Amino acid sequence: MTQQTETMTKPITEIWAKRPVIISGPCSAESEEQVLQTAKELAATGKVDVLRAGIWKPRTKPGMFEGIGVKGLPWLVKARQETGLPIAVEVATARHVENALQFEVDILWIGARTTVNPFSVQEIADALKGTEVPVLIKNPINSDIELWSGGIERLFKAGVKNVGMIHRGFSNFGNTEFRNAPMWQLPIEMKRRYPGMLLICDPSHICGNRTGLASISQKSIDLGFGGLMIESHVDPDNAWSDAKQQITPAVLKEMLSNLVWREESSEEQEFLNALAKLREQINQIDDELLSLIGQRMKVADQIGQYKKDNKITILQTNRWNEILSKAFKKGEKLGLSQDFITKYFDAIHMESINHQNKIMND
Ligand code: PEP
Ligand code: MN
Repeated sequence: MTQQTETMTKPITEIWAKRPVIISGPCSAESEEQVLQTAKELAATGKVDVLRAGIWKPRTKPGMFEGIGVKGLPWLVKARQETGLPIAVEVATARHVENALQFEVDILWIGARTTVNPFSVQEIADALKGTEVPVLIKNPINSDIELWSGGIERLFKAGVKNVGMIHRGFSNFGNTEFRNAPMWQLPIEMKRRYPGMLLICDPSHICGNRTGLASISQKSIDLGFGGLMIESHVDPDNAWSDAKQQITPAVLKEMLSNLVWREESSEEQEFLNALAKLREQINQIDDELLSLIGQRMKVADQIGQYKKDNKITILQTNRWNEILSKAFKKGEKLGLSQDFITKYFDAIHMESINHQNKIMND
């Protein structure tokens, strides 16, 4: 035991309640030296609250580095003693939970490939019964919010009191800008379902590269996320896993310093008054928009009746293309993206079709 160098670790409840909470460390623990060096450099930034490191690595393909295993846990314990940083590891089985608890790991997290499997989540939840350890659950790799939510419920049912969520993006086919598409509407919905629950963004696994980390982190802060989990490594280019997305502790420090942190709300009266006025305008506009859409559907109903009487199909592709191209042009002038116009008109069009379908078949 390195008694002389031991630093006090803050109580985990304090860390859990801190906003923002910053978790960082290597994708995988590789050697004692790598873990200790990374931990020391992270602690020296003064900006990191928790040290993370993967001990068991779920890799997509066999033959990739699958984690150092239990022998890496004492390295993390030593890093905690020397830096005072609490430690976090990923668990995927009851055995992992058992091993992690033997070493008094402070925070556990459930990986994206595990959240998809209710059997695995249940096994982990059962292994956690009667313990106090906080657990973070990553979103499943597929964009199924009920699986994510189901995982949380399983942990609650097992009596885990401190449950948090990590948004790490969703698998997609083909090359896109992201390794895992953020699909922000999903974490936003989870924040709505679980108000007050810690929600952390993991920009490393969303981006899969270093260049996008800052903007994804900022976006999550702007949306009111409670913290970040970012992979860091003393020698990122030579990391044994996820080399492309890891950054050095020095780069992390610089990035964190440049982020604009925001409060969830303000007590300042002037701000609250201005906000209330603008929100009243938004409410009015939303109200008018809905009335107009209702009117539009009434017209669509009438057209449906004519189509029915004249035995004409509901879908008129030429007409639809005409509407869309006009809307793109107008949208551009108004600063509305093509993506938005497409989604908006798709929704309107589907509702019109459903209305007309009803009329035709009534
Ligand atoms: C990780 O955090 O290193 C990891 C494997 O992440 P995910 O479960 O999000 O793929
Ligand atoms: Mn990783």
